[in-house]
Amino acid sequence: MSSTRSYAAQSASSPLAPWTIKRRAPKPHDVEIEILYCGVCHSDLHTARDEWGGTKYPCVPGHEIVGRVTAVGEHVTKFKAGDIAGVGCLVDSCQECDNCKDGLEQYCSNGMVGTYNGNEKDGSGYTLGGYSKSIVVREEFVLRISDKLPLEAVAPLLCAGITTYSPLRHWKVSKGQKVAVLGLGGLGHMGVKLAVSMGAEVTMLSHSPSKEADAKRLGAHQFVLTSDAEQVKKVSGYFDFILDTVSADHDYTFYLNLLRTNGVMVCVGAPPAPAQVHAFNLIMGRKSFAGSLIGGIPETQEMLDYCAEHNIVSDVEVIAIKDINEAYERMLKGDVRYRFVIDMATL
Ligand code: NAP
Ligand code: ZN
Repeated sequence: MSSTRSYAAQSASSPLAPWTIKRRAPKPHDVEIEILYCGVCHSDLHTARDEWGGTKYPCVPGHEIVGRVTAVGEHVTKFKAGDIAGVGCLVDSCQECDNCKDGLEQYCSNGMVGTYNGNEKDGSGYTLGGYSKSIVVREEFVLRISDKLPLEAVAPLLCAGITTYSPLRHWKVSKGQKVAVLGLGGLGHMGVKLAVSMGAEVTMLSHSPSKEADAKRLGAHQFVLTSDAEQVKKVSGYFDFILDTVSADHDYTFYLNLLRTNGVMVCVGAPPAPAQVHAFNLIMGRKSFAGSLIGGIPETQEMLDYCAEHNIVSDVEVIAIKDINEAYERMLKGDVRYRFVIDMATL
């Protein structure tokens, strides 16, 4: 065991503050990583504030981790001390069920273990995430990171990148398809970059007029302000695919109406309240309303390699960890361009 500095929420209503945690000594299949950067995902905020229920306290969020390997267990073959490595939203799963065997560890039938707020399989407690100086993770859940790209801008790929890449791949988004990305935040801006890289015609659907220029700079071909009825009317029945990344409660039917026949809307955003959708909104036009959870380990590695090859990274604002509470407030106001990343040297 070693002591490690971290930032934790002690309750749903308390701000994050310094706290010392214990990390296990690396077991034979473990990799110990000194964390250099950790992205700030809206899921961190939902969890720290117990907006989904079930948060265990103290809670150390953070699942967009990039760092340097400091030690490895005796059976580790993929990594050695000094390597740059990444950890995303998962740190364990059974590795035996059909989903795990298919590389879909996020849907492990026996329960995957999230990087934070997950129950350790050996009963030793619950997981604490990347707002900390170091982490110890099973080798199978550690990702290889290219040294070609800036590490702080790679960190958000570990959640925002894979969460948008996976549904785009699953639904075979391809050249010429009309794709909308709903919500221009951490996930949304990666969704735009990735869908553009796959050859789609991409429209940004946003409730923030101030984001139009950025959406175009990120590669979107069109920007639609969702509060402008005239603009929305023009894209009614238009899209093959909508990727919904909105973090707050919203009207799903409004967006289902923008799909053409056989269109698909995938929710990755996870607002606290349940969705209200009438069956007729799907029946008329044979539409699909689907969801997607992050991505499995093989696909996360594929996405990291794809991004290295296509020079795709996140647009980041690097912050000191003492500013994390202010960053949460800014994230709630939509004032993030487009991912906060904590420089762990400031901890
Ligand atoms: P974020 O950076 O805060 O972005 C969310 C975006 O939603 C905002 O930028 C905003 O875009 C839009 N939005 C916010 N409030 C809105 C409102 N009241 N009405 C309409 N639009 C609103 O968050 P994120 O980190 O990208 O995460 C987005 C969601 O995905 C969160 O719920 C998170 O928990 C979830 N998530 C899911 C997975 C998964 O595996 N499925 C993985 C990671 C995160 P505009 O200003 O452009 O409208
Ligand atoms: Zn996340």
